[in-house]
Parts: sequence; C-alpha cells; structure tokens
Amino acid sequence: MVVVMKPGTTQQQIDHVVHLVREMGLREHVIVGTERTVVACVGDDRFKDRARLETVDGVERVVPILAAYKMASREVKSERTLVNVGGVPIGGRKVGVIAGPCSVENRQQVLRIARAVKEAGAVALRGGAFKPRSNPYSFQGLAEEGLEYLAEARAETGLAVVTEVMSIDQVDLVGRYADVLQVGARNMQNFNLLSRLGEQPKPVLLKRGMSATLEEFLLAAEYIMARGNTQVILCERGIRTFEDYVRNTLPLAIVPEIHRVSHLPVVVDPSHGTGKSHLVQAMCLAAVAAGADGLIVEVHFDPEHALTDGFQSMTTAQFAAMMRAAKRVAEAVDREM
Ligand code: PEP
Ligand code: MN
Repeated sequence: MVVVMKPGTTQQQIDHVVHLVREMGLREHVIVGTERTVVACVGDDRFKDRARLETVDGVERVVPILAAYKMASREVKSERTLVNVGGVPIGGRKVGVIAGPCSVENRQQVLRIARAVKEAGAVALRGGAFKPRSNPYSFQGLAEEGLEYLAEARAETGLAVVTEVMSIDQVDLVGRYADVLQVGARNMQNFNLLSRLGEQPKPVLLKRGMSATLEEFLLAAEYIMARGNTQVILCERGIRTFEDYVRNTLPLAIVPEIHRVSHLPVVVDPSHGTGKSHLVQAMCLAAVAAGADGLIVEVHFDPEHALTDGFQSMTTAQFAAMMRAAKRVAEAVDREM
C-alpha cells in the first residue's frame, strides 16, 4: 500500500507515518514528489490494517497497490524516474545511446571504439569484461584488466561506463570501475545478485530474461529497488520465440507498455534483439519511435574479427549513420538525441 500525504505536510508528520509503518512490520520508502510526498510500504501487507494509517495527521489517503511489484509501479510513483548515467539523465527528453563492443578485447580496441562512438553522439560506452558465454571454452572476458581499459576510455572520452556483473562476488570490483552495472538476461532472476545490487550505490541496467514475462521483469527490478536502490534502467533485449530468422524476437510494444505501468526508464538493445547487424539500424529507429528512453548497441571497427557477437555488431560507420537517422526520428516524436 501507499500512504499519500497531504500537500505541505511537515517532516514530523512523515516521520510519524514511517514509525507506524515499521511498527506494522513493513518497510517504508519515502518518495518526495514535486507536489506531495508518498510513503510506499513494502513487505507483505495483505493482513495489515490500513485504517490505522488513514486517520493519522497529515495523511490524505491510503491506497492499496494492485500490481505485484510496488516500487517499480506507476501506482506508487507517477513521475518518471531519471537514472543518472555518468551525469546524463536517462528517462527524460533525451534518448541516451550506450554503444561499444560486446566484449572488451584489448586496450587499443576499446579506446578506438570509444572515440568513434563518442564522436557519433553516444553518452556511454558498453563492453563486457565478464562475459556470460553458452560455451565454457569460449572467450570469457578480460576481467579486471578489461575494467581498467574501460576506465581509461572514460577518462579520455568522458563517456560513462556500462559493464556486466555476473555474480555477487564481482559486485564490489565492477562497482569500482563502472558507472552503471549491467545484469545480463541470463541473470535476470538471480535474486541474490539482484538484492545485493540493491544495496550498492551504482545504477543498474537490468536486461530482460529471454523467457521472462513483463511482470517477471518488473518483479526482478523490484528486488533491486526493495533494497533501496531505485536507480534501475530496464533493457529489452529480445526474447526466445519459434522464429528463427533472427537470434531473438524484439517485442517493441513493451516500451509503451512499460511506460504505462512503470516509472522506470526503458532502453532497447537491437543488437541482441535481432542478432543480425543488417537489422539493427531499422530496430534502433523503431525503438526510438516507440518511445525508448535509450538504446544499447554493439559496435566494432572490425566485426568480422570480433571475439564475440561480431555478426550483430555495427561498424563504427554504420553506427554513425544510424545516429544521424535516429536523431531525426527522435525529433519527430518530440525527443532529442
Ligand atoms: C551483452 O550485452 O553482451 C549480453 C551478454 O547481453 P544479454 O545478457 O542480453 O544476452
Ligand atoms: Mn553481446
């Protein structure tokens, strides 16, 4: 449930509500909006007595939340959440583009790609230092050495760094280098990892599991938010279907649907969402037209020799051309890039 405070309530009144919520065995999240403050109560409140809070000073009303997820729901917070990606807010008017190689391969590779995507207008650099690979004998990433190259690329270009964390024991290490911690599709329901990410200060880019429903996706975000970290970006990266001309099927209707049911920003990954570089530009434009708050795109100067996901990586020139085209689409839907 959510306790909606009257406009102009005092801090003392809010503190009193918080005290009562805790007494009921629930946890609180105080959300200060531009017009009023609401106190979201999390925990199992099915058998709690709402009436106890309804008559308290400063309280306007107490509303039950129908969605299974609470913190991620628009019922709790109607204003859009802005997530800070290295100083750039994602979730507002600007469509933020995160671009870079699938994997960090070596120092020169990352620096060269970082310079190119920065020049083309990206706001953040992606690149995996820890790679979740289907085959245990495939390239697994450069680990900390890769994180160092990403940090060097940030220092040179000013791009924020978005990189994947695969397990709880990597959270502190990756958090020291990254501006945003990426949770991969295969880890979307690694609930212990999600909870741990809720207890650290860096924003999280949460990728949708390849067989997860929208509700499961939002419940995964809820795991992070319930622990206090509300800086979550949802990332649609395509799902497994019977269709096989693409690596994954990219369901873009999820973008307006997420905006309807949640206040969290949503970013689209047309690289994994199609698995074919010749389809990426069209899906980038479509994602922007559908209202995506950002894109995450794999880029390599030599896709044929990329260690991972070369078949779906744009060349740096293709990326620059996509950015020019997407900018025009963004303007047509009252956004900027
Ligand atoms: C990636 O971003 O390179 C990646 C491994 O993505 P996903 O988790 O969506 O497969
Ligand atoms: Mn990849």
